[in-house]
Amino acid sequence: MIIARNINKSFGKLNVLCGVDLHIKKGSIYGLAGRSGTGKSTFLRCINGLESYDDGNLIVDGVDVRGLPSTSLSAFRKNIGMIFQNFSLLERLTVYDNVALPLKCWKYNAFDIDKKVKNLLALVGISEKIGQKPRALSGGQKQRVAIARALSLEPKILLCDEATSALDPKTAQEIIALLQRINNRMGITIVVVTHQMSVLSSACDEVAILENGRVDSKGPVREIFRQQPMALKNLLGEKHAMEIEKGRIVTISLSADNRLPGQIACDLGIELAITGGKTGLGDTSPDNLRLSFSENDFPDVERYLVARHAIWQIIHEPSSVFKCAV
Ligand code: ADP
Ligand code: MG
Repeated sequence: MIIARNINKSFGKLNVLCGVDLHIKKGSIYGLAGRSGTGKSTFLRCINGLESYDDGNLIVDGVDVRGLPSTSLSAFRKNIGMIFQNFSLLERLTVYDNVALPLKCWKYNAFDIDKKVKNLLALVGISEKIGQKPRALSGGQKQRVAIARALSLEPKILLCDEATSALDPKTAQEIIALLQRINNRMGITIVVVTHQMSVLSSACDEVAILENGRVDSKGPVREIFRQQPMALKNLLGEKHAMEIEKGRIVTISLSADNRLPGQIACDLGIELAITGGKTGLGDTSPDNLRLSFSENDFPDVERYLVARHAIWQIIHEPSSVFKCAV
């Protein structure tokens, strides 16, 4: 659906994208992760033709974006919906009119607009807010309206730029679940730019991690989390290389699911201890817990974590004493 070959892009002397190669399959949910300033948003804007690039090929739904004459650009963009961290709704318009806006621009008739808007608002679960202005909505509700608007022209691709970053973890998971339903039901290819590990692990089929405008690692999400490339560790906040040794301690990013330690202990019938934790900025629930357990239990725990799509990594701490069993 989206093939990027050796994409290069500079702003003046700043090389923002350096030889980006990606293949995003039709109907998949693809994660694009990386630290701030690594070129994720720029790459998304290249996909929908809002930004030009200097070198390489970008084929989107069979169309070479750079070769597109300006007269064909708006028809091309009709196939690509986009949502953002700040929702980008028009404050003076009601929920209904926000969703209707693209349809009006494309001169749909009033009957079709009415039907479509109501169907979309039902799909995203926000019909009861139809006459409200955005200021009366919560962040999650605003993002639902933005999703409805992005789907109004029946795009084949939906680009999500940090769409859940401004939301609390529970609301973020609800929006992700909605995107998954849309992907399942409508077969829309979804590209998700995020720095939230929970989004990658719970929603994406494949992921690419960008570092300084380059694709550092890419592949199935489970594979990338298993390989633990340095770019992923950088994102997780662990900047030094880790090694696997005897006497294991596992650090688990809990993906907004703080029941996991208890479930591991109960389901596997093993004893484990919480030996540390870290809370993400702005989050109220712990997003990173340090768990310890016997070396012999490690294979079972590993299988369990992989099956649950948990985000975790092994760290070495030889002299720890474990006291408080869960
Ligand atoms: P990300 O989305 O990964 O945070 P961006 O794609 O927004 O990164 O930006 C990548 C780099 O390109 C940043 O250093 C940013 O300052 C720069 N940049 C982005 N857009 C422009 C622009 N229009 N003009 C100049 N520099 C830009
Ligand atoms: Mg960005």
